[in-house]
Amino acid sequence: MLQPALSVVLEALEKIRDSQEKPLRVSRATLNHLFEQAPPAASVEANASSARKTDVAAKAAALAQVRERVCVCAKCPHLARTRTQTVFGVGNPDAELMFVGEAPGADEDARGEPFVGRAGQLLTRIIETMGLSRDEVYIANILKCRPDMPKGAPGNRPPTPKEMSTCIGYLIEQIEIIRPRVLVALGATAVEGLLETRGAMRQLRGTWNSYHDTPLMITYHPSYLLRNQSPAEKRKVWEDMMAVLEKLDRPISERQRNYFL
Ligand code: SF4
Repeated sequence: MLQPALSVVLEALEKIRDSQEKPLRVSRATLNHLFEQAPPAASVEANASSARKTDVAAKAAALAQVRERVCVCAKCPHLARTRTQTVFGVGNPDAELMFVGEAPGADEDARGEPFVGRAGQLLTRIIETMGLSRDEVYIANILKCRPDMPKGAPGNRPPTPKEMSTCIGYLIEQIEIIRPRVLVALGATAVEGLLETRGAMRQLRGTWNSYHDTPLMITYHPSYLLRNQSPAEKRKVWEDMMAVLEKLDRPISERQRNYFL
């Protein structure tokens, strides 16, 4: 940044100096000296790139420390007893975009990674259609352990308010470390956890909110789209994602504009 700015200043000084109308008391030698003092553009860029890498490494290290605490967490004894493993989060520690879901289901509990079941596959498709990959964004849940189910019962259950309030601190740490430019809350539980508000998703979705000054888009959880195959509902989620792309200053192609999930 310094080199281009300095070049503009020096060029302006040169023009003024060479102009007959408004002589400037700066010698050619002084201008040359200023040019010599300016760090070369390549070196400024290299320094910025190195600082960036250090920042990403620091974020990854900070996340790893939180993950270590989560791995052995037993604040909810009933969940610590029944989980296969904790499900911390996945993706780029320096992500611009972070998705927040509800809690691990059976597939996620087995794999130790969020959004890997059918709903996760749909989320991956949404991310890829946005022109991104799972490695570029960050994905986490409000709860890091699978909510327990009666023995042999199929499916998953939503977390209780007590489970959410016990676990939310870990997600807050993740957000504070990653500092994404945009957050997406997937479903009512994510909205409740992040914004401490409840409401009908049909009214909440598609609205911009703010989580500690970070823009937060509310949209449906992918599992809702699996239950409700209506093209109109799917299109709503895609429109929410296009709003996210705009917020991130990313171009939207004609094909993306016409896309239906
Ligand atoms: S749900 Fe969260 S707070 Fe509760 S035991 Fe698991 S990691 Fe700990």
